[in-house]
Amino acid sequence: MNNTVTNADQEPLVRIQNISKVFGSTYAVDNISLDIEEKAFFSLLGSSGCGKTTLLRMLAGFETPTEGRIYIDGQDVTDLPPYERQVNMMFQSYALFPHMTVADNIAYGLKQDRMARAQRDERVRDMLALVQIEKLGHRKPHQLSGGQRQRVALARALAKLPKILLLDEPLGALDRKLREQTQFELVNLQERLGITFIVVTHDQEEAMTMSSRIALMREGRIEQVDSPRRMYEFPLSRYAASFIGNVNLFEGTVSSQDGDQVRVDSEEAGGQLLVRHSQPMTVGMPVTVAVRPEKIRMAQAGDDLPNQMQGVIREIAYLGDESIYHVELASGKRVKYTQPNVQALAELPLTWGQTIALGWYADRCGLLAQ
Ligand code: ATP
Repeated sequence: MNNTVTNADQEPLVRIQNISKVFGSTYAVDNISLDIEEKAFFSLLGSSGCGKTTLLRMLAGFETPTEGRIYIDGQDVTDLPPYERQVNMMFQSYALFPHMTVADNIAYGLKQDRMARAQRDERVRDMLALVQIEKLGHRKPHQLSGGQRQRVALARALAKLPKILLLDEPLGALDRKLREQTQFELVNLQERLGITFIVVTHDQEEAMTMSSRIALMREGRIEQVDSPRRMYEFPLSRYAASFIGNVNLFEGTVSSQDGDQVRVDSEEAGGQLLVRHSQPMTVGMPVTVAVRPEKIRMAQAGDDLPNQMQGVIREIAYLGDESIYHVELASGKRVKYTQPNVQALAELPLTWGQTIALGWYADRCGLLAQ
């Protein structure tokens, strides 16, 4: 996997060059190179322990890289302390000072920078308004809800108007509803301020909703860097395909290629699959065909779907807006197929134990080499 991502059009705001961090014998971050463009909403996404927080802490200056360099705005900041970088960090725990009021919490960094009183008060008022807690300036953190504390932490991190804001699981402490609502607020805020956000999250839905770009991390390395849409539509590996959204994976081997049409023998699928894929493939090469549940449809007699298979419905999950069907093929492989619930329930004929034919077009699936 190529860990280097360059943006030819513009000098990146952040350049991470061959960065590693070793704790004892653990490579928490393993030779990562990454460019992050200005005004991006950039997410570091990955499962627990993959090195996201360590990478973020190295950007902030709280952790020294074992190897590699970090550049911000063209300047090598690797050896600079946190307060000399144009970076601020919002911590997972919020780390508010419990004995200080909300306003004093927000003013703290400004005071340290010796900002004049009047200007400081104005900035605090602006920040309170920005995160919509104008009336809470006099309260102490323990007199706030979790969502309000999150806003204070955000206001405090933004008060110095940093060039880059680093956020470690910023919505982690919020319940699901508040999380979803706050995701949009965070994006609006980022767009309005034009500050580059770099966010750590383990939640793929959250990363998909908020980010302009996502770096998917795995065991200290970058698996793929892409826009949310490309990450979903064109995952480069089985890992990326499975991490982002639902996917059906069929093991097989390449049997032939004619231009961008690749045929794959797959026992699991019960025959041959046809995939549109423009890269040259070698016959006999082991591959995986990936197809998202929503790209599959029920096949009718006379359909021209090149990929077709029959199976028995084993499970149905009704999710309100859509239903997910688990369909067992003759090979024993289970295929997930989703259908939007546009019709009234009574019109839906599908039931447990029923045999159905499924199919999809060659350009609705992807070919993964690993
Ligand atoms: P999570 O989502 O659980 O916070 P993460 O992706 O942020 O995980 P890191 O906190 O960066 O992961 O940790 C990466 C690896 O480095 C883990 O194996 C962790 O145990 C190890 N690690 C992190 N900090 C230290 C430390 N100070 N000393 C020793 N090992 C550490």
